[in-house]
Amino acid sequence: MARGWGGIAEGLVGAIGGTPLIKLRRASEATGCTILGKAEFMNPGGSVKDRAALAIILDAEAKGTLRPGGTIVEGTAGNTGIGLTLVGNARGYRSVIVMPETQSREKIEFLRMIGAELRLVPAAPYKDPGNYVHVSRRLAEELARTEPNGAIWANQFDNLANREGHRATTGVEIWEQTDGRVDAFTCACGTGGTLAGVAMALKERKPTVRITLADPMGSALYAWKMRGELTLEGASITEGIGQSRVPGNLEGAPIDDAIQVTDEEALEQVFDLTIHEGLSVGGSAGLNVAAAIRVARSLGPGHTVVTILCDGGARYQSKLFNPEFLRSKGLPVPPWMA
Ligand code: PMP
Repeated sequence: MARGWGGIAEGLVGAIGGTPLIKLRRASEATGCTILGKAEFMNPGGSVKDRAALAIILDAEAKGTLRPGGTIVEGTAGNTGIGLTLVGNARGYRSVIVMPETQSREKIEFLRMIGAELRLVPAAPYKDPGNYVHVSRRLAEELARTEPNGAIWANQFDNLANREGHRATTGVEIWEQTDGRVDAFTCACGTGGTLAGVAMALKERKPTVRITLADPMGSALYAWKMRGELTLEGASITEGIGQSRVPGNLEGAPIDDAIQVTDEEALEQVFDLTIHEGLSVGGSAGLNVAAAIRVARSLGPGHTVVTILCDGGARYQSKLFNPEFLRSKGLPVPPWMA
């Protein structure tokens, strides 16, 4: 966050980060702990991924790989694409975004609305050459040859500028906003940039802080952390989180343990936050809060546990807040929605 006199933000870039840390009343009361959610849905692009997008672009500019008028190519579940396109628009770059067609309609429509050149591909596992990450890499290689001002592949999964951005901003903000009283931090991983960056920033300042990886069903990271193997089980309706491999951003990160959270648990928190706290959030935020409650219970009363409210509920109106969708997945529909 770059703020000038009177707190004025220097354009879009100056308005990214510096998000509030919100005390979650019900989660705190239920556990006797202080549970805090970092309100990343308040970033200009509506998600935690604005920070990674900005860090990746600034790094590429500094290295000279991203030149004026250049093109940014990325494979994304949507939020990184939104962040890259908005920062790209503000700085004069073209954005080409590759996305699995299974992601929410709202994210796809928003990307179109802000001028991203969108390529939707069928969902495919990482080992398949048709996986969105590989498609985006090949497209970036091609555009780097053909575009007059060149092209870069943002490569959020393995580009360490992502976690460095979180280390320098999200992690430091959490430390300062809690006056160093944070005892534990937990969140789920897409690229792992948020978890790794915050973990590094906090452990540098307080080695006893506990870092827990929260994993949805259908992701291999829980088994990787707890048993050292990459095995998948089940599935999740959450978007932007869960992995079948270990992204470069997670490698070597100081993580103490992991927990697995079901969609039922995650959705219970999504609806609870919406109706009882007035915080409209998406599925990964609900999963993170469910994880924070479990971490708080294992630590016992009196501790401070921080997590991430990654994005807002409006991004998932057609899914998490659609009774038909919930029923089709065998998930409970809250009474106020039916
Ligand atoms: N939640 C949502 C909604 C996301 O889009 C993402 C990023 N794909 C994450 C959580 C995970 O963030 P990270 O990539 O930093 O692990």
